[in-house]
Amino acid sequence: ENKNVKTVEAPEGVQGEGFFATRFDQVIGIARANSMWPLPFATSCCGIEFMATMASHYDMARFGSERVSFSPRQADMLLVMGTISKKMAPILRQVYEQMSEPKWVVAVGACASSGGVFDTYSVLQGIDKVIPVDVYVPGCPPRPEQIIDGILHLQELVKNEDLRRRNSEEYKQLLASYNIE
Ligand code: SF4
Repeated sequence: ENKNVKTVEAPEGVQGEGFFATRFDQVIGIARANSMWPLPFATSCCGIEFMATMASHYDMARFGSERVSFSPRQADMLLVMGTISKKMAPILRQVYEQMSEPKWVVAVGACASSGGVFDTYSVLQGIDKVIPVDVYVPGCPPRPEQIIDGILHLQELVKNEDLRRRNSEEYKQLLASYNIE
């Protein structure tokens, strides 16, 4: 018997049972990341790829995101897909503002990310001109695999997000920089 090793009795209630320690914000992060409800804001061709993404072949239910919400208040993942004209920008902004915190944004495809091939006076050159974006998915259009990859990247961000981020000065400044309260 090694006298330098001390044996510690397991506390009452966990004897004979396995248990693990974790952090509360990690549990919340895992729960949030695996139950993200998408709000599709689809204006053109990229939206067609989203339809394929949500169909049975790609099966978004595997990632907890099969429940599409067309009400901003019941969605936490805004997927912007398609060409956003400058006339449409205030509407996109309003939809974003109507979502409750915490909320995240994915720019799906070249048009949403940067205006794409439509470098013209009437098209917004990227939705991050009016709302903050968390993940950009490249492609014209991106294939369903790429859209899923973007969502999985977002899940990693969500899992690791500090629970205090939404109340932080940094986050408030980010929203203020977009004139969003
Ligand atoms: Fe259409 Fe390409 Fe723009 Fe997607 S990125 S909306 S496919 S033009």
